[in-house]
Amino acid sequence: MTAISPRYLLKKIIKNVVCIITTCSGYQRVCRNKTNKKGLTILTYHSISNEIEPDETVTPEEFEKQLQYIKENYKVISLEEAVEYIQTDIEKISGSIVITFDDGYSDNYRYAYPLLNKHNFPATIFLISDFINDKEGKYLSQSQIHEMKSNNISFGSHTVSHRILTGLRSEEIIREIRGSKDILESQLGLKINSFAYPVGTMVDFNDEIIKTVKASKYAYACSNVYGINGNNTDIFALKRIGIETTDNFFIFKKKLDGALNILSFKDTKIFQKLKRVFFKL
Ligand SMILES: [Zn+2]
Repeated sequence: MTAISPRYLLKKIIKNVVCIITTCSGYQRVCRNKTNKKGLTILTYHSISNEIEPDETVTPEEFEKQLQYIKENYKVISLEEAVEYIQTDIEKISGSIVITFDDGYSDNYRYAYPLLNKHNFPATIFLISDFINDKEGKYLSQSQIHEMKSNNISFGSHTVSHRILTGLRSEEIIREIRGSKDILESQLGLKINSFAYPVGTMVDFNDEIIKTVKASKYAYACSNVYGINGNNTDIFALKRIGIETTDNFFIFKKKLDGALNILSFKDTKIFQKLKRVFFKL
């Protein structure tokens, strides 16, 4: 296991403090209309593993606990179903949860897939087309994808190489967005309707990129801008709530409750620009 960094600890402390303040101050009660039971919550996971990589890993044990909690308190629907209702009848899916995974790690097959199956939960995995069938086996193989495809797991594109799109020239943006769809559809025989922007905060995609996603015949796209979705959500910039290594079970429950929606400023352009200057990310 990687040693716990001061940054990791700081994040954990901030999240716990915010949860306690928002719970005790009645923020959630006051903002009842804004809590997540009034909209659609899309969760983003990455790696499900006992090998902790800062920020992005949830252990299989934690993941199982989280799924159990979701089962007892929410309804899980597929991303396809969610998008269908989001603009027509949001009331019908309010309080529902969609489960997604970015990057296509092979541990999604090893650990997440059996647990999703056990609960009969659908999920969507966003694949990086160049990383499939890698020699090290860190990412999903073609046969794993095929098996999951027949069992309630759908797949979307997460570009060809996971480069941040806003830093690329137009031809490269087209290659990353359209090229990955072509590869996944022709080589894997998948129908790819969904896309997820790499990293996905507000500085990682823009109008030109959204236009390319639409022109490439995707039906909808996910960002990683923190928040829930309502009937005025742009389906080419769906908001998601990332579940991270620093989320203990208390924070996880509070994130689903909406107590951490106040932290959505961290995905704004100004905050991300400052963060990338200071932390050189
Ligand atoms: Zn990613």
